[in-house]
Amino acid sequence: MKGIDRLVRRNIAELTPYSTARDEYEGALGVFLDANESPYPNGWNRYPDPHQKKLKQRISELKGIPVGNIFLGNGSDEAIDLLLRVFCNPGKDNVVAISPSYGMYEVAAQINDIEVRKVPLGEDFALDREALLAATDAQTKLMFICSPNNPTGNAFSNSELLSLAEAFDGILVVDEAYIDFSKVGSLAPRVAEMDNVVVLQTMSKAAGMAGLRLGMAFSNTRIIELMSMIKYPYNLSQATQELALQNLEESYKWKIDETITERTRVAEALRCTAGVLKVWDSEANFLLVKVKDADLVYERLIGGGVIVRNRNKVPGCLGCLRISIGTPKENDILLKLMQEL
Ligand SMILES: *Cc1c(COP(=O)(O)O)cnc(C)c1O
Repeated sequence: MKGIDRLVRRNIAELTPYSTARDEYEGALGVFLDANESPYPNGWNRYPDPHQKKLKQRISELKGIPVGNIFLGNGSDEAIDLLLRVFCNPGKDNVVAISPSYGMYEVAAQINDIEVRKVPLGEDFALDREALLAATDAQTKLMFICSPNNPTGNAFSNSELLSLAEAFDGILVVDEAYIDFSKVGSLAPRVAEMDNVVVLQTMSKAAGMAGLRLGMAFSNTRIIELMSMIKYPYNLSQATQELALQNLEESYKWKIDETITERTRVAEALRCTAGVLKVWDSEANFLLVKVKDADLVYERLIGGGVIVRNRNKVPGCLGCLRISIGTPKENDILLKLMQEL
C-alpha cells in the first residue's frame, strides 16, 4: 500500500461535505419537518436515501463486494467525472488513456481542463505496458483502461492490469462495463486490498437498465469515501433506487448467455460474408468489423433500417463498424442485409 492521500487535490482533502437532513436524523419514523419537503404523499414527495443503503446491500450480495467498497452513481459517467475531480488539479495534472477506447474519459477530462495522454494499443489491440508507463509523469493522477475495451472488444488479463497498477504511481481505473460478457474474471474482488485501483461497472449493458442510469465503482474504502464526499447528495433518484432493486430481483443470466451464443454465430456468419475483411474476437456484446467501404456499408444498413456505429474515422479503427449483438431475430436482419450488399 502506497497511500493515496498525497494524490488527492488539496481543496478536496480539506472539504467539509454537505450534510443533508437525512444525515442529521437517520430514523425512519416520526413527523418529518426537517427537509422542507411537501408533506402530501404521492410516492415521491420525500428525498431519497443519499447513501442508497438498500440498493448497495443488494449489489454487495450480487457482486460479493462489501458495502464499504461500493460507490453508486448516475451512470459510470458520474464516477469518471468524480475521480477526475477528486484527484486532478485543472490546468495542471494529466491522465493517461489507451486509444482507441471509450470517448467519455477524454471528454470528461477536457471539461475539467485536464490533459489526456492517449497511448495507442499495440498489435491486435494489446496493452503496451512500457508505452503507458512512459507516458506518465509526476502530474499523472489517473490511468483509464477499459477491459473488455470499447470499441475493440478484447479484454486484458488481470495479471497485466495488476502489474500495471503496481508500477504506476497514480490511480488505475479499470472500466469493466462489458465484464459480464467476458471469460476474464472481474478485478473487483481485488480492489479492497489495492490502494490504487478503481473498477467501474454499470447496470447499462448486461443488466439491461441503461434508461435508469446506475453506475458502480468498486475500490478501497478511502477512495469510495472521497467519491461519496463530493457527489451530489441525492445523486440517485428514488425512482432509480426503487426500480433498480425491482429489476435486480430477476436474473439476467440467460440474456448474457444468449448474447454470447449470438456473438459467436454473428461473427462466424460475418466472416463468410463478401466485403467483410476482418471480424475481431470479442469479449463484449458487440463486434468490431472491418469492411471494404465502411461509410457505404453504414449508409446501406441504415437504408435497410439497421443502425450500427460507424468507427471509420477513429484512429486505430479505420474501415471499421461496431455492431452490437441484438436478439436472434435482430441479428438475422443484420446478417441478411450484410449478405445482400
Ligand atoms: C456503455 C459504457 C459505459 C456505461 O456508461 P453508463 O454511464 O453507466 O451508462 C461505461 N464505459 C464504457 C466503456 C461503455 O462502453
